[in-house]
Amino acid sequence: MNQHRDLDKIITKVQSYHPEAKVGLITDAYTFSERMHQGQKRHSGEPYFIHPVGVAEIITDMKLDVPSVVTSLLHDTVEDTLTTLDQIEQHFGHEVAGLVDGVTKISKIHFTTREERQAENFRKMIFAMARDIRVILVKLADRTHNMRTLSYLSEDKQREISSETLEIYAPLAHRLGIYWMKSELEDNALRYIYPKVHSELKRNIIKKKSERKQYITKVMGLLKKILTEAGITAQVSGRPKHFYSIYQKMQSQNLVFSQIYDLVGFRIVVQSVRECYQTLGIVHSHWRPVPGRFKDYIALPKANMYQSLHTTVIGPYGERIEVQIRTREMHRVAEEGIAAHWTYKDGQGQEEAQRFAWLRQMVELQQHVQDPQEFLHTIKEDLFTEEVYAFTPQGDLNSFPRGASVIDFAYRIHSEVGNHCTGARVNGRQVPLRYQLQNSDVVEIVTTKNQSPSKDWLKIVKTPKAKARIRHWLKEEQRERSVALGQELLERELARTHSSLAAVRKQRRIGPTLEVLGFSDEETLFAALGYGQVTVGQVLGHLLPQSTAVPDQTTHTIELEKIRQKPSAQDSSGVKVGGIGNVLIRFGRCCNPLPGERIVGVITRGKGVTVHTIACQRLLESDPQRHIAVSWDPTAEYARLVKIEVLSEDRPGLLTSMSKAISTVGLNISSADVRTLSDKRALNVFEVLIPSADDLQRVMRNLERVRGVVKVSRVAP
Ligand code: MN
Repeated sequence: MNQHRDLDKIITKVQSYHPEAKVGLITDAYTFSERMHQGQKRHSGEPYFIHPVGVAEIITDMKLDVPSVVTSLLHDTVEDTLTTLDQIEQHFGHEVAGLVDGVTKISKIHFTTREERQAENFRKMIFAMARDIRVILVKLADRTHNMRTLSYLSEDKQREISSETLEIYAPLAHRLGIYWMKSELEDNALRYIYPKVHSELKRNIIKKKSERKQYITKVMGLLKKILTEAGITAQVSGRPKHFYSIYQKMQSQNLVFSQIYDLVGFRIVVQSVRECYQTLGIVHSHWRPVPGRFKDYIALPKANMYQSLHTTVIGPYGERIEVQIRTREMHRVAEEGIAAHWTYKDGQGQEEAQRFAWLRQMVELQQHVQDPQEFLHTIKEDLFTEEVYAFTPQGDLNSFPRGASVIDFAYRIHSEVGNHCTGARVNGRQVPLRYQLQNSDVVEIVTTKNQSPSKDWLKIVKTPKAKARIRHWLKEEQRERSVALGQELLERELARTHSSLAAVRKQRRIGPTLEVLGFSDEETLFAALGYGQVTVGQVLGHLLPQSTAVPDQTTHTIELEKIRQKPSAQDSSGVKVGGIGNVLIRFGRCCNPLPGERIVGVITRGKGVTVHTIACQRLLESDPQRHIAVSWDPTAEYARLVKIEVLSEDRPGLLTSMSKAISTVGLNISSADVRTLSDKRALNVFEVLIPSADDLQRVMRNLERVRGVVKVSRVAP
């Protein structure tokens, strides 16, 4: 029967690249999947089962292992049939169940939904990928097959799936080095997103097809001839470029079809690296190279390990032709991408994946970046930016995203080198930290002991690792400062009661206090004191026997006495200072803290206590000696005026929608100001009375949801 022929085909193919494969599992999966999908139809009216079979064929095209083939056959059973993951595990084992689970999870992700959700989803996808790259390979094969059969869906669906393919899957295939898949995905997506462009290209290309065929044959003959004369045995092939790359070229250079000449590319596969360069010399000596088009990916492989020489020359008939030169092994890697390094190393999944620089970076990033939004941003940047290569003085090669700085280079060497980097010598010349790496730079990092990372560095660096390490350092530093401050506050206060830390430690009073207040260790307690999350009074209340405890006071009492206001009927600031009321409170205009945000007070002579958020730069710059724990008074009802800036499109009705977005949260706008900008955009500034940080979050999220809104930010008052 027809279906059995499909099964035989799959098995024969697997055995062709892996003779010892245990194909029994494939037969089982085939029968199982066929039974489970029984009666289901695709949109085309054909039996559903042709889809998993199609995906399995693509997986064997990529020469993947048996578990991958089995997974591709089963990939839709858990989602679309009554099959459970437990059943899959029972029948096909733990490894396959894990893979099917991964693919099922990714299938539930829709990348065209709102950006936030998209970010989180993409993060999960990368996470799945970091665990086992085969999950992504099966998912890519699934998408490839779906794109081949997309014509049966509604136009809306076609467009949605196609743009998702262009945005996420094609760049992923590219990044993984599976170029045939990337081209196919792009061409199919182009057909549905720009049907007119696609049909025009197709018409033009078919019209010229016989002409081009002749042309390709002629040039191939010429290439073979000049190479044979030089004693080089080579395989020469010619191919028309894929539609999407022609389309991109027309777009980027504003050309019409007839202006695009290099519609064909030639590929020369030779025996050795030496012959690659010889061949390049021969090609260049016959046909004039187009300046700026030569790329040496042999000396400088791409992150996905792609190697080749690329050049564009003015061909024998005055037309531009692109020539790629590579060895047989390089060709295999280029065709199969990551899969070329993947095939048949049972049980070595993770280690293999680790060999890929990009993947490794993604895994690292996954561990350091908490904000999904930022993660998506970085990863999108990473999918699309080109690389820059730079060397250490020892000649070690590192690749970076374009625009990366000396700091990125330093962090690539070691976190400590990054933390103490003050500049660099690039090609022997002194450069500042913000210098952007250029191809083939030789970079020698200069460090000094006293140097440390600053917030500004975050604006300069491009690599995820550098960003994560700088953030980490800043956070640690802030924590260290808080720990020191907290400890100092506590020690001073203990001294006032003629006690000391050493004494309370001896009396074994610390353990119970930590337990009551919910801290894991002393350091965390100190940090919380420093951050102002607990007051010294609170801690002392537990630390000291009742009789000696100072009722919620601080060493600042004397100074506080001076700045104490005349008793007033109501304390309206909403903030308590070490339990003392009636202290003159001001809020830092720099950070304008909102109830719910973590705050610290700074005693200012004659002006009372200024309250800052713990992240405020002013606070970090102020004298820790003058810091004092403050807390929000949960009983006070208080709202602060917050300025919110909204960048939006400039169109009528938008202001009304934005105002509604604010008032539906139950908040009052006290002023609104709209300024029209030059590029059909408008800058709207609202002043809103906001009771808490949560309310601010809510209102900002609401504003972001308004159609036409580009960016929402809170600004200093
Ligand atoms: Mn599927």
